[in-house]
Amino acid sequence: MELTKLKGIGGKRAEEFENLGIYTVGDLINYLPRDYEYIPKLESIGKDVIDKKVLIKGEYLSSSRLIKIRKNFSMIKLRFKNEGSIFYATFFNNPFISRSFKKGHMYKLYGKVVKNGNNLDMANPVISKIDDNVMLKVGYNPVYPLSSKSKINQRLLRKYIRQSLEIVDIKDVIPKKVMEDADVISLNEAYAGIHMPSGRDEILKAKKRLDFDEFLGFNLSIAMNKKLSYGEKGNVFKIEGKEEYLKSLPFDLTNAQKNALVQIEDDLKRGVKMNRLIQGDVGSGKTVIAQYALYLAALNGYQSVMLAPTKILAKQHYDNLKGFFDKFNIKSIFLHSKMTKAEKDEAYEKIRVGEAGVIIGTHAVFSKAVEYHNLGLCVIDEQHRFGVEQRGLITKKGGRVHTLVMSATPIPRTLALSIYKDLDLTVVNEKPKGRKAIKTKYYNLDNYENTYNFALKQIDAGRQVYVVCPSIDSDDIESVEDTYNRIKKEFFSKNSIEYIHGKMKEDEKDKIMEDFYAGKIQVLVSTTVIEVGIDNKNANVMIIEGADRFGLATLHQLRGRVGRGDEQSFCFLLSSSSSKNVIERLSFMERNFDGFEIALFDLKTRGIGDILGFKQSGKGSFDIYKAMENNDLFVKAADTVEYLLEENTKENRTYLNYINKKYFLETKNITWN
Ligand code: ADP
Ligand code: MG
Repeated sequence: MELTKLKGIGGKRAEEFENLGIYTVGDLINYLPRDYEYIPKLESIGKDVIDKKVLIKGEYLSSSRLIKIRKNFSMIKLRFKNEGSIFYATFFNNPFISRSFKKGHMYKLYGKVVKNGNNLDMANPVISKIDDNVMLKVGYNPVYPLSSKSKINQRLLRKYIRQSLEIVDIKDVIPKKVMEDADVISLNEAYAGIHMPSGRDEILKAKKRLDFDEFLGFNLSIAMNKKLSYGEKGNVFKIEGKEEYLKSLPFDLTNAQKNALVQIEDDLKRGVKMNRLIQGDVGSGKTVIAQYALYLAALNGYQSVMLAPTKILAKQHYDNLKGFFDKFNIKSIFLHSKMTKAEKDEAYEKIRVGEAGVIIGTHAVFSKAVEYHNLGLCVIDEQHRFGVEQRGLITKKGGRVHTLVMSATPIPRTLALSIYKDLDLTVVNEKPKGRKAIKTKYYNLDNYENTYNFALKQIDAGRQVYVVCPSIDSDDIESVEDTYNRIKKEFFSKNSIEYIHGKMKEDEKDKIMEDFYAGKIQVLVSTTVIEVGIDNKNANVMIIEGADRFGLATLHQLRGRVGRGDEQSFCFLLSSSSSKNVIERLSFMERNFDGFEIALFDLKTRGIGDILGFKQSGKGSFDIYKAMENNDLFVKAADTVEYLLEENTKENRTYLNYINKKYFLETKNITWN
């Protein structure tokens, strides 16, 4: 149903909704709160509530004149009475606000009370009519994600979502048996509970139903993939040349690495397709494990391909591995989509005739034009950036191709077995000896000058610096560009500094990363786009602004970008939050360096918004965290998918179709944020 069917939405406003990705009434209903604001009770105005955020009833009395403070900045003060006491509400840049009030009528106001001389003031409060329980109520008020790209605010979202729920007839096709078995509520109840909860319990029940459907979607794609690739016949590899391989390495392998090599050998020689996941923390040394598999494929006369999620990462692998393969007379080539036509044609030809032994690249390795000579092995690095779909793709490129995927995502074994049902698991739970711990320091923002001055000293000593900030598009967070401008002016006016974020053009990003590797850029300001795999050994300072906005697992991944060379490395976590929870979480990072421990602690200490709200893990993504938090529900969903596929009734098919349509896209990628 079109948005303009709603009362009060015309073309202009519909456009603003579109900027939030909301095109239909259905989208509106599926626009889920990122958090809830809990208002425990109605308060009375007085000194007890000074400096507190409270909900207060007020009778509107009068308005001041509009005060122009400077160009484009005005203020107006409204007078209210609560239980005989006068208080004021100050509004900025809202010149016509008094029109929303009628003298002598009662309203609700929600905001922080401050003492202003002898007066009590609320600055920019949220307001509603006294009997309006959509905008403001005692209890849980939904807080929706906003965007600086759209004028849509909380009030409008709350209003129109409520309206949508009243007029839309939500059809729930879930089979009764599934509903009872999984103990979930109906979709109707779920949407009402999510958007207009009467209590915490209701939110949790609603969330359970929506999560269940989403988990089904994810498990459905896993099940489909398993059908495609698990237990199929695979090429038999002869295992030879191990001694030469080990000798060629500049270091001794850890026991965990040695163990992984043996498991890979067993997989490759038994005549069944290998489907193995190597899971190991950042820096645990997964690349040499993959390298061994690539090497074995070449010795057996097979081509192999290694796939990385970004060109930057693929190039990095290529640069690292080329020298090694050259020594064994194995030809390696680099393939990515931004190559010129001539370059591509040349690479395709080398692949087609079998001259290229090892192909290292991005998604381009799956492109239609690539014809493999005799592909025997596919390695996928940083699996969590791809997801289930790619694993299926490779099957189309060669009949009996072995697959090895690598991931730094730390998840408990039981969950890993569910999520990666179609894979066997190897855990690399040991780091190479002699690594220097990354000195990690958490500072409240008052110490941020020292942090940047410290970074400047490191730059003077020839090092490079990362500065990471939370988001590129949000209503209440400084953008990457703004951070860049601010710190450039304040600290790095004499240095080469650039910024990078995910929405930039591919070649712009490449250029910046290349310059950063080459040492031409001293300070790189970025979003989490640099989170995965980047390996610049000369960068030894990582500054994370707004560190409280990240999950601890993400902080851990980010921190893993430094500490890759011989130099001592440093990670600074900056946050202006004074919340006890934030302090506890960020301090934990100072003492802990184990990805798995960090992930568990993260789960234990996540804020209420993370538990009740729906985090935006990005379109086309599945948040592993969610599965980890709801282990039991996830496993239930996995069982349910098996049941639904087995009991092929019309009712079951209808539900699977609904899940497939609504969630399949969402589950193509797995993220960890
Ligand atoms: P990740 O598991 O994060 O992909 P890498 O494979 O990139 O880790 O390895 C990180 C660094 O450690 C690389 O520079 C690599 O050469 C080095 N490395 C790997 N294994 C060992 C080892 N056994 N001893 C010493 N250094 C190692
Ligand atoms: Mg790696």
